[in-house]
Amino acid sequence: MSYLFPTYQKWEIEPVSANGCKLIDANGKEYLDFSSGIGVCNLGHRPKAVEEAIETQLKKYWHVSNLFHIKEQEKAAKLLAKNAEMDLVFFANSGAEANEGAIKLARKYTGKHKIVTFEQSFHGRTFATMAATGQEKIKQGFGPMLESFVYVPFNNTEMLKNAMDESVAAVMLEIVQGEGGIHIANEEFLKETEKLCKEYGALLIIDEIQTGIGRTGKPFAFQHFGLKPDIVTVAKGLGSGLPIGAVIGKIELESAFGPGSHGSTFGGNPVSVAAAIATMETIFQEEFLKNTVEKGKYLIGKLKTVLGKSPIVSEIRGMGLMIGIELKTDVQRLLSELRKNGLIALPAGSNVLRLLPPLTVTVEEIDEAAVIIEATIQQFMNKTVKA
Ligand SMILES: *Cc1c(COP(=O)(O)O)cnc(C)c1O
Repeated sequence: MSYLFPTYQKWEIEPVSANGCKLIDANGKEYLDFSSGIGVCNLGHRPKAVEEAIETQLKKYWHVSNLFHIKEQEKAAKLLAKNAEMDLVFFANSGAEANEGAIKLARKYTGKHKIVTFEQSFHGRTFATMAATGQEKIKQGFGPMLESFVYVPFNNTEMLKNAMDESVAAVMLEIVQGEGGIHIANEEFLKETEKLCKEYGALLIIDEIQTGIGRTGKPFAFQHFGLKPDIVTVAKGLGSGLPIGAVIGKIELESAFGPGSHGSTFGGNPVSVAAAIATMETIFQEEFLKNTVEKGKYLIGKLKTVLGKSPIVSEIRGMGLMIGIELKTDVQRLLSELRKNGLIALPAGSNVLRLLPPLTVTVEEIDEAAVIIEATIQQFMNKTVKA
């Protein structure tokens, strides 16, 4: 029996080692890992630069508390702020904690409490972030929810207009809804959202927990649209697998997060911060990001070629290396067949196959994955027809 609460429907794989895009299980079977630890290992497994940064920090100290000046935190905060064209950073340990901080910051700064979020969004599992999430299944059995969250259909400017008034503290959104099914925000909707926030004195919070740190081919996905958010949250890819999250904010918000207003014992842990610095120094390079965009285009093109005529595929969409294949069937069984054939992928919603390969994935690995996906979908259809 397992001593773990069964909160996760676990896969049959027990990893024993992993390197780059490859993962090896206890039976010696090798997989192409197109999940990257759910969009976390953006440089692949155990990237050298990050490993060295962690080892160096391990030999200095591991934890001292946020009452001390920690030079590395300053360096990581500067990298985040400069690359986001924003000003101040608060370090947390996870995505939910970063969003929790963002919601608190927006409420305190504006003195208002209503937060507008979107249907199918995902913002986390804590009480505030669960309430912010626009998916009923996440909330089941945990009510009553934290009040003052309002949900609007994604990409629907008219409905957003109806939800806006002077009492709104913030609008919070993902540029590409990750867990909700790889739904991409359209430019006009985003521009209109930014304008409405200004008009009603609400802050624009962008949840970049899955889209940030190069995943879409820019440091942050909002930069594809020239937006100027007030608050941005990151986590997943930031520490290459070490736990860390961050709230990035504009200078105007400084007074709302003064001494004693918010905190976290582990937030900005020096080892995680060392990993974050090495990760950002690698990813936030023009050449690296250009490569990510090219590989994303190549992967989408490849998928469209091999799956374009498949009767069970309804759409292929994505941004950078965040890609969804929408299916006319449930995704879970297909994912299990893919694993048997050596490819690890993820679900998004109930019927979208999500690919989040490391940004360091090679063209050969993309070709290999496309072959596996094509063959597996073919096998899958043959089986379904027979059954
Ligand atoms: C994963 C995710 C979160 C939650 O992050 P945790 O680290 O699991 O708390 C929040 N928002 C988005 C967009 C995510 O993808």
